[in-house]
Amino acid sequence: MLQKTSQFMREANFIGGEWVKADSGATIDVTNPATGLKIGTVPKSGKAETRRAIEAAETAFHSWKKTSVLERHKLLRKLHDAIMDNQQSLAELLTMEQGKSLTEAKGEIAISAAYVLWFAEEGRRAYGDVVPSPWADRRILVTKEPTGVVAAITPWNFPSSMLSRKLAPALAAGCTTVVKPASQTPYSGLAWGALCEEVGFPKGVVNIVTGSAGEIGDEICANPLVKKITFTGSTEVGKMLMAKAAATVKKVSMELGGNAPFLVFDDADVDRAVEGAMVAKYRNSGQTCVCTNRFFVQAGVYDAFVEKLAEASRKLKVGPGLEDGTQQGPLIDGKAVEKVEEFVSDATAKGGRVVTGGKRHALGGSFFEPTVIADAKPDMMFMKEEIFGPIAPVFKFETEEEAVRLANDTEFGLACYFYTGNLARAFRVMEGLKYGMVGVNEGLITTVEAPFGGVKESGIGREGGHQGIEDYLDTKYVCIGGLGI
Ligand code: ADP
Repeated sequence: MLQKTSQFMREANFIGGEWVKADSGATIDVTNPATGLKIGTVPKSGKAETRRAIEAAETAFHSWKKTSVLERHKLLRKLHDAIMDNQQSLAELLTMEQGKSLTEAKGEIAISAAYVLWFAEEGRRAYGDVVPSPWADRRILVTKEPTGVVAAITPWNFPSSMLSRKLAPALAAGCTTVVKPASQTPYSGLAWGALCEEVGFPKGVVNIVTGSAGEIGDEICANPLVKKITFTGSTEVGKMLMAKAAATVKKVSMELGGNAPFLVFDDADVDRAVEGAMVAKYRNSGQTCVCTNRFFVQAGVYDAFVEKLAEASRKLKVGPGLEDGTQQGPLIDGKAVEKVEEFVSDATAKGGRVVTGGKRHALGGSFFEPTVIADAKPDMMFMKEEIFGPIAPVFKFETEEEAVRLANDTEFGLACYFYTGNLARAFRVMEGLKYGMVGVNEGLITTVEAPFGGVKESGIGREGGHQGIEDYLDTKYVCIGGLGI
């Protein structure tokens, strides 16, 4: 078990290069979801601390934006190496506060490092344009400049990688940052402060503040020094932040909720579909915004799919994340378990059939059994709401048109998946699905090289890919006249 003395477990804010407590001295407890026991505390900060962090970021911006792209590249490469050199202890810290298996936590740390490396490179390719001029005596340049102070608000389900894909492009572009990690999992966020300090980022370039989400969020939205807000979390909070940020016309990137459909057609390879379904459903115990929320399976393979999915679900090893062989950790807290129970009782009351699981796990606490519910119907809660837990509802459909219509019948549009062996259908369905990301015969599609993000109420902007740095750059058009050529 990780000791409290872990160099990365910081119980303080990181502001202007200093590790500081909240002004009031107030703290928030952080607990281990696998045991329910307190791990430690972090500062319960509010507006004043946030304002100081923003001012530190603004001061640092004046010099950071002038550093050469190669200097920033080198620091980011050092950051990448520092993350990977400490992969094991960063992963243990993550598992302790978040609950996911150590294997998944190590994977998350590795992808966090990979984002840093990717954007270290993308920073060198933030090209502008030289545009053919309509005037004989003038020339047109289009340049890219760092946007300024960026505020990043991150969630508890991927406390490291969600931060990485905001921080890395911001730093590569020449922006400075104020980060607010989720209160359930603040240590994985604060660890970035320790890492950035260790590799030599100048004071104030990265600032991290923990505490009251409402107060910190309000200061971030109202403060004119903040030029951009990047947020990953619920659609509800995202909408509120967008509305508040409108007062000072800040740029926003929003990675919000999902309601991923997973379609299996009669012509699909069912075993491959089940394999994809397991990862698309149960990663992080179902607590990701790209986790399948609704399985739609064509009548001809419905029974076989349900049976195989249930069999594979039964075999999942549930346990504390730090225990060897664990595949499914606990849910984040008691509230999450209650919500999952509500989905099950709503479905069973409306005719859903629990094929496996369906209740709290014998381990107690916030552990829940991997659950498959057959005979799902559109009037059940999970048709519209994000489950964020290990429940796989399976709907039956007859025609391709019906499946696409049901899949699109949601205000969300983040990830979707479908399985078919027919090439023409693959293109028809891919073009028919109104989503930001599509997995065709694949259940795990996130990678640093590709743009992650949603349409409709799932968000604005893209993270990863060459697109991921654009939100941190402003376009400047320069017209050079009087050349007399
Ligand atoms: P979830 O339901 O997954 O916890 P939230 O949207 O509530 O999603 O949380 C995502 C992040 O947004 C967390 O860091 C959380 O503390 C923060 N947050 C929650 N409410 C607010 C708010 N009113 N203003 C700013 N940030 C908020």
